Amino acid sequence: MEEIINKLLVSYGYKHIRTPIVEKTETFTRAIGAVTDIVEKEMYTWQDLGGDMLTLRPEGTAGCVRMMIEHNLPREGVQKVFYQGPMFRHERPQKGRYRQFHQVGVEIFGATDAKIDAELIAMTAQLWERLGLKNVILEVNSLGSNETRASYRKLLHSYFSQHKDQLDEDSLRRLETNPLRILDSKNIDMATLIANAPKMIDHLDEASAEHFKEFTSLLDCLNIDYIVNPRLVRGLDYYNRTVFEWISSDLGAQGTICAGGRYDGLVEQMGGKPTPGVGFAMGLERLMLLISEQHDSLTQDPPSIYFVALGSDAKKASMKICREIHSTLPEVIVLNDITIGSLKSQMKKADKSNSDFALILGEEEIQANQISIKPLKGQGEQQLISLEGIIAHLQEIL
Ligand code: ATP
Ligand code: MG
Repeated sequence: MEEIINKLLVSYGYKHIRTPIVEKTETFTRAIGAVTDIVEKEMYTWQDLGGDMLTLRPEGTAGCVRMMIEHNLPREGVQKVFYQGPMFRHERPQKGRYRQFHQVGVEIFGATDAKIDAELIAMTAQLWERLGLKNVILEVNSLGSNETRASYRKLLHSYFSQHKDQLDEDSLRRLETNPLRILDSKNIDMATLIANAPKMIDHLDEASAEHFKEFTSLLDCLNIDYIVNPRLVRGLDYYNRTVFEWISSDLGAQGTICAGGRYDGLVEQMGGKPTPGVGFAMGLERLMLLISEQHDSLTQDPPSIYFVALGSDAKKASMKICREIHSTLPEVIVLNDITIGSLKSQMKKADKSNSDFALILGEEEIQANQISIKPLKGQGEQQLISLEGIIAHLQEIL
């Protein structure tokens, strides 16, 4: 799966970067925002021996932005990068939700046009196709500009203030700090209240409305289906304008496999020169769950051989032949027996290994300068082949 993802991203012009797994806590708190699930309760943070506050990365964008600024990369033009690796969040572990999980994320710095937002969607749609995934639904929304979001926040504050009795503890706190976050709540008891709240999409500034129109018209021209979900606000503070999520109904509550959006203010907020940004991250465990839910496997297993060798001459010969198979047939899996048991016990292991063929080299074969090859799956007779001819024979049959 990772190979398929890498190939696709490289073909769209993204460069693979690696940022540290541990960064200063401040990098995350500044980027993600104080009133978010991640910063409020999910980060693994500690003080190191030098007194610095450090955190295991809960997401990848903050480190990417820190790196862009540190190396002044956006100055060299548009940057298209991707990362992959472990992320850490102190959550309640359950299916599709773990404390260490893996993401592949993509970020573009230096592009404002909705064309790139739409290309990100086209690229992920292409990925679902390559992974053979079905029924993944795209939800989109626009969060507007910082200014319009501030006035929308006031609107939300007054709406939710009128219904304080229906808010849970988290939401009551967020009412004062960041009422937008209430829209993101997973509490089913508040679903109707949230559904009836004023919608950001009805209060966009003109430029953001235009950007969103352009974005959706590009999706239309690509025949990509989407649902405009006015309650989609995303769990991190840095987003503006485009936000989106790809969701599967086959994974229960942990249905979002890929999520992202625009963060035009983030680079500046982190201390860099104003640089627009947009990106997404996908959860690899959830993708794996979905693949195993929907079909058997992504690829065919390569051909495989189990090498059974008896006695010290055969041991030496087996090592030479295995080396030759590895160099002439690099795709083939070759397991050279290492338990050195009897013929019977080695053959048992060969069967158990699920290999396609056993190569058998006993005293008799060595004497005759020959080697036996036995198909382990399906029909076919055991055959004797000359030692010199075995590589050519394997090249023919594998
Ligand atoms: P959720 O609403 O499910 O908590 P999120 O909004 O916190 O997700 P993001 O921060 O957007 O998630 O992360 C992007 C993707 O990473 C998610 O869509 C999901 O596929 C995956 N992901 C996030 N948290 C976890 C986790 N704890 N375990 C496994 N995958 C995760
Ligand atoms: Mg979360």
